[in-house]
Amino acid sequence: MKAPIGHGRTADDDAISRRNRRSRSYLTYVASVVLLAALSLSLTTACDGDDDASPSPTPTPLIVDGSTIDVHTHVMSAELTALLGAQGPATADDLVERMDEASVDRAVVLSTAYMSVLPDDAAMSAENDFMAAQVARYPDRLIPFCGINPLRAAALDEIDRCVDDLGAQGIKLHLVGSQLDMTNPAHVDALTRVFERVEARELPVLLHAANPIGLPLDSDGLTSLGTVIAQHPGVRVVLAHCFSLLDNQQLELITEGIRQGLLQEDQLFLDVSACLQAFQDAPLSERELMVWRLRKFGLERVFFGSDYLKIDPTAITPADAVRVLALYPFTQEEIDLILRNDASAWLDGS
Ligand SMILES: [Zn+2]
Repeated sequence: MKAPIGHGRTADDDAISRRNRRSRSYLTYVASVVLLAALSLSLTTACDGDDDASPSPTPTPLIVDGSTIDVHTHVMSAELTALLGAQGPATADDLVERMDEASVDRAVVLSTAYMSVLPDDAAMSAENDFMAAQVARYPDRLIPFCGINPLRAAALDEIDRCVDDLGAQGIKLHLVGSQLDMTNPAHVDALTRVFERVEARELPVLLHAANPIGLPLDSDGLTSLGTVIAQHPGVRVVLAHCFSLLDNQQLELITEGIRQGLLQEDQLFLDVSACLQAFQDAPLSERELMVWRLRKFGLERVFFGSDYLKIDPTAITPADAVRVLALYPFTQEEIDLILRNDASAWLDGS
């Protein structure tokens, strides 16, 4: 494990990271399998002849002074917080205070209604209602995204209700939180139906991809997810946490998929929440590699995100997330590109 990742994670993420710590060797194994088998193409070939190889680390301190938008924040109701055994609720008042502290202008607020711990369809709707009521307190600062669990009977109706009644501007999907297994055909079908509805309603998606216990997707799961995304070219997707958080070699596979035309470049975006924290004290060579991967993906499609959720006592705040950018060997121009991006290419396709 490169670094503690407990900060600022959703409660289900924290459970996942504990499992990850126990599964280190398996993680390494999965990473190897994915790299060798997933696309069975040579990443070394992709690297050969790479003219825009990363420059050496900048010698001058980088200036990080707030962000135009944080695309990954959460609120959570007292009811759901209690189900997770934590102290809540996590409110918009607190979130906006943290945004002000970090000079963050706006934030996408992701409902955590996707969680499988919620007992039924009504509880999923109630959690989305809570998010919408919180966001309504700061309509100029906060952008509402509903959480949807694709395995719930009401998933598609809830997408419509979110748009028509709650004014949701996008959807958060969390494969781990919803216990969605991309190697299970019924689950892939459920996700496909959600993508169909999301495409019909012209909504952007923020997606946390992993297998049901939080490990990076294996080659079959990655292929299934890539296929669902590719079959719905109208859905603009932010891949949360640099796509796979702890195994960012998988980001190279996404980038290679785009290079080969299997995935659409203008459909895919990244947020840097939690993943930059995870590697913040890694050897410089690892942080250089992270920056290289983000450059190869395309920094103009990389957004600032914190994954702030107040109920986690070790939460990464927006201020923490802004500061960590300066620990990576970006150029100042690149830092500014990320922090000044308003994410409109994802939010409304402009
Ligand atoms: Zn999150």
